[in-house]
Amino acid sequence: MRMSPTSGSCLSTASTRRRARVSSKPATSATPSSGDSFRLGTPAQKLRQDILLMKPYFITCKEAMEARLLLQLQDRQHFVENDEMYSIQDLLDVHLGRLGCSLTETHTLFAKHIKLDCERCQAKGFVCELCREGDVLFPFDSHTSVCADCSAVFHRDCYYDNSTTCPKCARLNLRKQSLLQEPDPDLDA
Ligand SMILES: [Zn+2]
Ligand SMILES: [Zn+2]
Ligand SMILES: [Zn+2]
Repeated sequence: MRMSPTSGSCLSTASTRRRARVSSKPATSATPSSGDSFRLGTPAQKLRQDILLMKPYFITCKEAMEARLLLQLQDRQHFVENDEMYSIQDLLDVHLGRLGCSLTETHTLFAKHIKLDCERCQAKGFVCELCREGDVLFPFDSHTSVCADCSAVFHRDCYYDNSTTCPKCARLNLRKQSLLQEPDPDLDA
């Protein structure tokens, strides 16, 4: 997270939150294979995965940076880095039933910025190329599937029903092949 050196106003917030510092360091990794009795509900895990998918929008959005949206997670900085580490504080919050609430709040706030408040982020949504219908899609929407190769986003139903190759990848491959076979100087980038 970058901040201009002249805007030091986040310091006060940081100091009021310092009390949480000791316990908010990620201390444990909860992977599905860890096999112990420690199970974090899938809802929290899904929210964290979504938040990771939202991160690229925020780090390229001036408004989101100015609004310091990612600072929502400053006590849980590891949530912006991966979806596996949990701090002692997180585990306490899971126990108290607070982690889900706090993640849901963050998720709602982030999604609102990307899908409603910010034109720049909205413009980075996807139209399902398989049906070309419906709303603009985002990779963190629950009813979507994302192409693992090119990150294009489709309706989950369209992607599975077609079980074809991703149209965007097909296009990219075609272009690659035609470039290899017959370099065309007129082809623009
Ligand atoms: Zn934005
Ligand atoms: Zn579709
Ligand atoms: Zn693709």
